[in-house]
Parts: sequence; structure tokens; C-alpha cells
Amino acid sequence: MSIDLTQATMTELRDAVADKSVSAVELTRAYLERIEAHDGHVRAYNETYADRAIERAEAVDRGEVTGVLAGVPIALKDNLCTTWGHTTCSSNILKNFRAPYNATVVEKLEAAGAVVLGKTNLDEFAMGSSTENSGFKPTKNPWDTGRVPGGSSGGSAAAVAADLCAAAFGSDTGGSIRQPAALCGVVGLKPTYGLISRFGLVAFASSLDQIGPFTHTVEDAAVLLNVIAGHDPRDSTSADPDTSGPIPDYTANLDRPIEGLKLGIAKQYMGEGNDPAVAKMIDDAIAMYKDMGATIVEVDLPHTEYGIPTYYIVATAEASSNLARYDGVHYGHRTEAPDDLIDLYSASRAEGFGDEVKRRIMLGTYALSSGYYDAYYLRALKVRRLIKNDFDAAFAQCDAIVCPTTTGPAFKFGEKTDDPLSMYLNDVYTVNANLAGIAGISVPGGFTEVDGKTLPLGLQLLGPTFSEPTLLRAANMYEKSNNFGNTRALASV
Ligand code: GLN
Repeated sequence: MSIDLTQATMTELRDAVADKSVSAVELTRAYLERIEAHDGHVRAYNETYADRAIERAEAVDRGEVTGVLAGVPIALKDNLCTTWGHTTCSSNILKNFRAPYNATVVEKLEAAGAVVLGKTNLDEFAMGSSTENSGFKPTKNPWDTGRVPGGSSGGSAAAVAADLCAAAFGSDTGGSIRQPAALCGVVGLKPTYGLISRFGLVAFASSLDQIGPFTHTVEDAAVLLNVIAGHDPRDSTSADPDTSGPIPDYTANLDRPIEGLKLGIAKQYMGEGNDPAVAKMIDDAIAMYKDMGATIVEVDLPHTEYGIPTYYIVATAEASSNLARYDGVHYGHRTEAPDDLIDLYSASRAEGFGDEVKRRIMLGTYALSSGYYDAYYLRALKVRRLIKNDFDAAFAQCDAIVCPTTTGPAFKFGEKTDDPLSMYLNDVYTVNANLAGIAGISVPGGFTEVDGKTLPLGLQLLGPTFSEPTLLRAANMYEKSNNFGNTRALASV
């Protein structure tokens, strides 16, 4: 094949299929070969669908399947329902589960001609920041296989970083797209809550969950957002175009620098806990934006520090309710020879769920229990509103906030597994965007050297609800000012 998968962007591959310089089958086979060669050590995929993918690619080559993604090989986080294969959430409780329907996002991607290569690994039920909570296996960071790829969508981030697909999809409840994107050196977009249908995304915390893409470039993310955005009557929280406006073409103005762009810097995101390389990344980004004519303003987000406790109450409360359905009767693993009905429920759940999921169910059940509801859940909802108010006030002064996605680069396996709190603290810069429902993106922000390895960093831009056109343009300005995203983790192999 004439195209180097470790150089090309998704859009270039899409165009190459469209102008027939490469066939969809050739492209799909090339990715399947890379998966064969590299996924043994990266372990991004839970399952691949080689035969189905080739059949779909053949249909593209025959002209039977068309669309803006015709022939583009993609990967899906294994919490997105598909009528083929399994949908496991990397949980033993759903190890054999086959979904009876497709997620709306999956339907839209296939209707646009995308070729699904497989499903990617995650922290069990998307609860985690490293994929170490997967019930099956940890995914490795392609930049340093001794380090985590981030999570929970670590499989999708690693698959894009290692060029084991042209683009991938994940879900972001408290950072699970942006954080692994940062740690793997790729672009990760968490759209505004309600912009993308959650129908067919296995629920973790329904008021926070959002689906979004992983790509090598901002343009690729915009192309994918065009395909997946929009109202869905099957998701009651999906945004109504009558109130949130029609869906624009997110690629239309990407290359036009934003005149009079106002960017906010918040001291709460620039604390002493940041790695020096992260602090430098922000300084360099600000200098670049100033050069391009942007105005920088200081904004205050005083309730930032309450984000982690608030998130871990709201998210666990919703999870405890959402995960009640895995009881050995409605869904999933059922214990053998239970004593009675209660034993059937409790033994099935005890056998099927991993430790972190159990911890969340217990925390959430506690926060919702009578006597504690007011002190925890209700109070968390009030603080959630204060966090949202902080962002509203900040966005009255600026178009977007520039900040780090994480405090540092990828950490080592096992470094945080003994201390759940230190794992939770890894989400300090990402959870507040979910609590406020706003849009966020992580773009490659350069590299740092640790123990002789080159590790990527992520720059985060946060924008008001439905500000994706501005956010993507601002991210594109930054991307075009540097070559960070052009360096690929497994470029030489
Ligand atoms: N790391 C966070 C958690 O463990 C976020 C997860 C997510 O966004 N799905 O809950």
C-alpha cells in the first residue's frame, strides 16, 4: 500500500479511498495487519471483527456503501452497543453479553461508511483512569509499555496512538476521553452534554456521560463530530435543536484564526502540583496565542477544588443506580446453584464485578441512603451548581479556558492502584467540565523525557456549552503552530 499509516491523518485516508488511490479493502487489511503485529503488546482491543470489516470494505469498494467516512477503519470503546460481537464494558459480568441494538453513534458512523475494526479495552464500566480496572487486561501506553495509557478509554486512545485504527470513539464521564488522549499524545474531544446521543452507550453516570472521538488531528475530530452530533429522540437528554440551535459544519472555519479570541487562564489549574513540563507547555501555548493576536484574561474558578469530591459523589450515586440492573436475572453473569433469590442476586454481583466497581456501588448507595442523602448527594448537587456558575462567570469574560489536561505525563502501572484516592485525584482538571456539562478538548501539547522515554502531554481547552466551533478552531490554531501531533508512538515499526 502506498500510504504510511503512521503518517497519515484520518481525513487523508478518507480522501485516498474516495479518489481510489487506495482501496477500502487494502486499507482495512493494512490496519488488521498492524493489529496482528502490535496489539499483542499494546492490548488495545478486546475483540476485532476482521471478516465483517473486510465485507464492509468490499461494499465500499463496490460503491454500495458511501458517505463522508466511506472506508475509514475505526475502533469503538467496548461500552458502545453493537448488534454484532460482544459488548462487555471490560467486565466479567457482561463477558458474554450481546447487545440487541446498535448505539445511535454506531448507526451514524456506519451510515457514513465507516468500517468498524473492533472494540477497545476500558476500565470496567468506564470507572478508572488507567485501564488497570479492566476485568480482562491492562492496555499499555504505546509510548512506554511500562506506563498506563490513561483511562477509562485507554484502549481507544492507545489504538489511535499506535495507529491500530484511523480514529476511535470513547466516553467521557469525568475525563475518560481527554485524559487518555493527553497521556497517549492524541486529540480527544468531549462534546457538550446533550450534543451526542447516549442511546446505546452503557450508562455509568447518566448526567455526566458523553461520547466523543480520538484522532490525530483537530480536523479529523471535526469531521467525526459532523457525523455523530445531533438530536436523537431515543435519548431524552439529547439537545433539542429548537433551543440549542442547528448543528453547524464543524469543519467549515477550522483554518480561519479567530479574530479577537479571548482566552482565560485560571490560577486554580496552574498549581504547584503541575509537572514543570506541564507549566512550560501552558506558558508556550499562551505565548503562541498572543502572537496570533489573542487576548489573555485571568479568570477565577473558586470552586474548582470541590470538583473531585462532588464528582465522586454524583458519579457513584448514579452508577449505583445504573448498575442495579446487573443482577443475574436481567443481564449478565448468573451464579451457579444459588441458595435462594437473594443469594442469586448477591453472588452473581459478587462474582461478576471487580473491586473498583464494587467500591463505587457501595459509595454511591451510601450517598443516596436515607439519613445521608441530604449530607452527601443533595449537597454535591448544590456544589455542582456552584461549579457551573464559576464557568458561566468565566465565559462571560473569555471564549475558552486554556489549562492542562493532567498534572503530568503517564504514570507507571501499579503506581496508584493501592490508593484509590490518588487515582481519583488524577482527574482534577477534567471532572469539572462534566459536572458543568461544557465542551472540552485535549490536544497534543508536546513531550517530556522521563527515564529515557519520550512521553506526551496534553493541552486542554474548555469552552461554554455548544461552543465546539470556536473550541475546535482555537485547538486547530494551536495544533498548526507546532508539530506535536505529527510524531507517532510506533512510527518506526
Ligand atoms: N477517572 C474517572 C472515574 O474513574 C472518569 C471516568 C470516565 O470519564 N468514564 O470515574
